[in-house]
Amino acid sequence: MPRDSHSPRLATRLVKGGTSTVVNGGRAVNPPVVRASTALFESMADLNDARRRRSSERLFTYGARGNPTGFALEDVVSGLEGGYRTRLFPTGLAAMTMVFLAYLRPGDHALISDCVYQPLRHFVDTFLEPWGVHVTYFRADGSDAASCMTARTRLVYVECPGSLLYELCDLPALAELAHSHGALLAADNTWGSGVQYQPLKLGADISIMAATKYLSGHSDVMMGTVTTTETAWQPLATMSDAQGVAVSPDDAYLVLRGTRTLGARLALHEKHALEVAHWLAAQPAVARVFCPALPEHPGHALWQRDCAGTNGLISFELEDVSPEAAARFVDGLSLFGIGASWGGFESLATVVNVASARTREDWRGAGPIVRLHVGLEDPRDLIDDLAHGLGAINERGD
Ligand SMILES: *Cc1c(COP(=O)(O)O)cnc(C)c1O
Repeated sequence: MPRDSHSPRLATRLVKGGTSTVVNGGRAVNPPVVRASTALFESMADLNDARRRRSSERLFTYGARGNPTGFALEDVVSGLEGGYRTRLFPTGLAAMTMVFLAYLRPGDHALISDCVYQPLRHFVDTFLEPWGVHVTYFRADGSDAASCMTARTRLVYVECPGSLLYELCDLPALAELAHSHGALLAADNTWGSGVQYQPLKLGADISIMAATKYLSGHSDVMMGTVTTTETAWQPLATMSDAQGVAVSPDDAYLVLRGTRTLGARLALHEKHALEVAHWLAAQPAVARVFCPALPEHPGHALWQRDCAGTNGLISFELEDVSPEAAARFVDGLSLFGIGASWGGFESLATVVNVASARTREDWRGAGPIVRLHVGLEDPRDLIDDLAHGLGAINERGD
């Protein structure tokens, strides 16, 4: 008996069933999580056409080149950064390292600002230098950048404001310097998150963010983004495709969900952090408070010129220079979690080693530096907790 083509057998029904995306009624507010490796086409002609166009156009052709949920997030990030297009990476660090791979070749020279996210130094030492790319660190305020440029310099990489102490550099001036030497300017914009700072609008060609931080905002997902101008785009897209780097649609969905409240959260982080910063500055146990929104910060004038606001990060130096004092302070806190990273809804505290994170500035001899991420808790409770921590400094065990 010939098989009825309208009643496929069980194994076939298991493969073919349940694929309808048509729903009756209205549509959801949010884009769907599209879990996909394979993309299906109507004909070989359509598949070949997509393959021809996918290097220059954003098309869903295979999961390793991005998925529709990730594309929705890319669009949000491109809008935040004011850039042409965006690619997503599994971590912020992977986004950073892809920039070096995409725009540099052995024999090239790169300038990196001294206040850069510290794990990048490890990438430079373990991969970039052995691969044949020469790196020079320049001062976080950019003051010696011009004298560090060489005929082989192809990339100037900055983090502004910098990690741990929030140093600022004059980004438009650095862009002019880089471009006059035929180099590109890349900026780590994790601090600004596209809300408080927009490097591409200040002349940078490439902007990178650890979406792990404020974009996601909930300490439950890792991701990095790279957004570029139209001119700088192709090397990034080509190298990312060549290496098969992609993120899961579930992770993209989580970050996309976080971005909906990014502006509202940052406004509160800023308000709470400023309350805490002003209180800290008045404490005798505190030698210095680092926050670019404070007039005494060395980068304050540039912050006023280029930034729309600040975020939940503040660092401070203790008067008591013993490392044990800083540990007693942090251990004496109960509302602040002890941990690295930041950008979630919660407050964190950690003692940071600035001396090992800077090569152009000598930090030996300074008191220990504590970095706080001020979260969305009531700042009055946070200040009570910090007062308790400062009290614990003097409770010596001996
Ligand atoms: C955290 C961070 C990164 C790295 O992001 P991960 O997602 O943790 O890899 C990069 N740059 C800055 C400034 C960061 O704070």
